[in-house]
Amino acid sequence: MSHHTIHLFRKGLRLHDHPTLLAALRSSRRLYPVYILDLQFISSAMRMGPLRWHFLLQSLEDLHRSLCRLGSCLLVIQGPYEAVLRERVRRWGITQVTLDAEVEPFYREMEANIRCLGQELGFEVLSLVGHSLYDTKRVLDLNGGEPPLTYKRFLHILSLLGDPELPVPSITAEDFQSCQPPGPGLAERFRVPLPADLEMPPESLSPWRGGETEGLQRLEQHLTDQGWVTTFTKPRTAPNSLLPSTTGLSPYFSLGCLSVRTFFHRLAKIYAQAKHHSLPPVSLQGQLLWREFFYTVASATPNFSSMAGNPLCLQISWAQDAERLHRWRTVFEELLLDADYSINAGNWLWLSASAFCHRYRRILCPVRFGRRTDPEGHYIRKYLPILKNFGSKHIYEPWTASEEEQKQAGCIIGRDYPFPMVNHEEVSDHNLQLMQQVREEQHRTAQLTRDDTEDSVELSVRPEHSEDLPRAKVARVAE
Ligand SMILES: Cc1cc2nc3c(=O)[nH]c(=O)nc-3n(C[C@H](O)[C@H](O)[C@H](O)COP(=O)(O)OP(=O)(O)OC[C@H]3O[C@@H](n4cnc5c(N)ncnc54)[C@H](O)[C@@H]3O)c2cc1C
Repeated sequence: MSHHTIHLFRKGLRLHDHPTLLAALRSSRRLYPVYILDLQFISSAMRMGPLRWHFLLQSLEDLHRSLCRLGSCLLVIQGPYEAVLRERVRRWGITQVTLDAEVEPFYREMEANIRCLGQELGFEVLSLVGHSLYDTKRVLDLNGGEPPLTYKRFLHILSLLGDPELPVPSITAEDFQSCQPPGPGLAERFRVPLPADLEMPPESLSPWRGGETEGLQRLEQHLTDQGWVTTFTKPRTAPNSLLPSTTGLSPYFSLGCLSVRTFFHRLAKIYAQAKHHSLPPVSLQGQLLWREFFYTVASATPNFSSMAGNPLCLQISWAQDAERLHRWRTVFEELLLDADYSINAGNWLWLSASAFCHRYRRILCPVRFGRRTDPEGHYIRKYLPILKNFGSKHIYEPWTASEEEQKQAGCIIGRDYPFPMVNHEEVSDHNLQLMQQVREEQHRTAQLTRDDTEDSVELSVRPEHSEDLPRAKVARVAE
């Protein structure tokens, strides 16, 4: 009860199931809830497009309001995190900094730097796990110090660990009673910035509003439909429906507006009351376990988000073409509302057959994929309105429409909309040969993440359509 504490929010933007914040409150006389808006750190560590910025600011505002209701507030301080901490520790007489443990290398480096600062300035550092179902270190320990490299092996290790711990109680006004809030005037001085303060357009076009309040509402909405929850089977969901046919909760998990443990245990309760329910890898709990799998592997793999220096990743001599890369680049991270280092890199490794996926001969055709999953092209018509007047026959390959048809659709290919960047068949053939050669030459790497009895990711794809990829992200790529 003796500390003057800064609780440093990084992710974990919530008050439910927050073990670190709870521990901070229980060990402090005064608590400063702080978010450091370090633009330099954010731009070097993450690629955040405007939609995600809006989502983050909305989440911070929501957290601030919730803290105010409990008699405290959120202080958003702009500046390099080390300088901000140095100054605040001195000014406020801080004896403890608490923060959630994270797996990303940039957040780990930040924690290590804060620990060094703690030694220099004389404050303690407490960090607990709150962003994953398990402490990934426990999974590694049980697997001989290495990450389990297939989903199947991963589930086996989890079966030795048992269920994830239960969520801790939500934070209430009572928890703040014996802990003084930040002094007067600080809330106004360190308010949550408006989008305009960061030179962003004032309105977000995204229907996903950031924050714990909205996240919990969406979660509850899904959980009321118990039939949907128990029968959820990922391969039966529609990857390019206009509204997600899955939960749409990933942005909330990515910033920790929602606790994955809360979701996992709520699902377990519903499963327990049902006669039958779907199972991993295709069930809803199975989706959370994919997340956990990639978190665990990422936590122990150097350079997990790149090819160079990543021991799990085949070293492929991809074509080097700066202009084409530029045209594609944004879809990797910047446009994602749910961008997440471990999940994004894990899925791209899999999708490119650089790791995890060994069925590299199954190549996704952007035209056939669209035709099968959304024959009328509703998704394209909404997000690429320039193409909306083409008939269904041409919506996925408008360059095959006659000149007359293009005129009628009000869109001339090559003038109003670009020609395809590549000839799909030629590029597929080339890459197939390349992959074949690489897999032979780098046989050991190719085997590292291979599950001989079953391909874990392919399990979540309808067997008859196994070239179709299982997730909405593919459709986003097509955007
Ligand atoms: C190339 C590529 C990149 C991706 N990048 C990201 C990313 O940056 N951030 C991200 O959260 N997801 C990413 N995914 C995974 C997946 O597309 C999203 O998690 C999913 O579409 C989110 O929708 P949902 O919340 O409705 O998922 P649901 O199907 O409702 O699943 C519930 C939760 O389970 C987790 N989950 C679901 N699918 C996966 C998966 N394939 N891998 C790991 N966890 C999963 C997510 O946390 C998700 O919110 C990527 C997938 C691909 C193919």
